[in-house]
Amino acid sequence: VKGRKTDKEKFSGAEATYTVECMMHDKKALQAGTSHYFGDGFATAFDITFTGEDNKPHHPFQTSWGVSTRLIGGVIMTHGDNNGLVLPPRIAPTQVIIIPVAQHKEGVIEANEAVMNRLKAAGIRVKMDASKQSAGWKFAEYEMKGVPLRLEMGPKDMEKNQCVLVRRDNGEKSFVSLDNIEEAVKTMLDAVQQGLYDKAKKNLDENTYACSTVEEVKEKMSTQGGFAKTMWCGDEACELKMKEIAGVSSRCIPLEQEHLGDVCPVCGKPAKHMVYWGVAY
Ligand SMILES: [Zn+2]
Repeated sequence: VKGRKTDKEKFSGAEATYTVECMMHDKKALQAGTSHYFGDGFATAFDITFTGEDNKPHHPFQTSWGVSTRLIGGVIMTHGDNNGLVLPPRIAPTQVIIIPVAQHKEGVIEANEAVMNRLKAAGIRVKMDASKQSAGWKFAEYEMKGVPLRLEMGPKDMEKNQCVLVRRDNGEKSFVSLDNIEEAVKTMLDAVQQGLYDKAKKNLDENTYACSTVEEVKEKMSTQGGFAKTMWCGDEACELKMKEIAGVSSRCIPLEQEHLGDVCPVCGKPAKHMVYWGVAY
């Protein structure tokens, strides 16, 4: 959810703070990237100047953009499950892990290697694990590491000119011909990417709700969690009261505003904005 921070929540010294608020899979909020507009306040305080067209020194107007390791935390907490990491294919360092089945049999490792080389040539980030660990151990290992797709191939598959693909996000297993394995893998990686997005979006949509009283926010927050949206008069006193009664902080004033009524649910005065509230990390 893209929005602007309230004055209480903005970076101190900034004129405005913009944020991307994300809902983690436990329905808590994570502020996952902010940008600030500083005006010329910091430049004046630290006497930062540049020479203008008029050949005189001026204080620049500054911005600050914060995209940091926190985003990695956001990925883990949005998509992960009880078996470990679940990485979206577009950012996964390894998109496909190949696990040869019955690898002691003649030609199995070579056949798997050939598939790996074809996928590599097609621009897919792929690795093969032909170590001595059991297949079951390897399955669990790469599940935990969040590799989006697992490709298995043993002697029986080789006879049929096929392999097995297993999706990390939903465990779905399919038998795929080797004839056009590059395209099949790419299509499935796209499906995993879209599947993860849809699941996270559904979580966000199903757990974002409009409230018209502070008591309603408190009640919904304690039973459902997620994001409550209400109107707000703009006074910090009401923001503090919302925190005190319902235990939530303002997450942002979304750039896409909705009209949920005319008054602030806390004080009853005319509302200025629609605000998202939640419990944050
Ligand atoms: Zn108010």
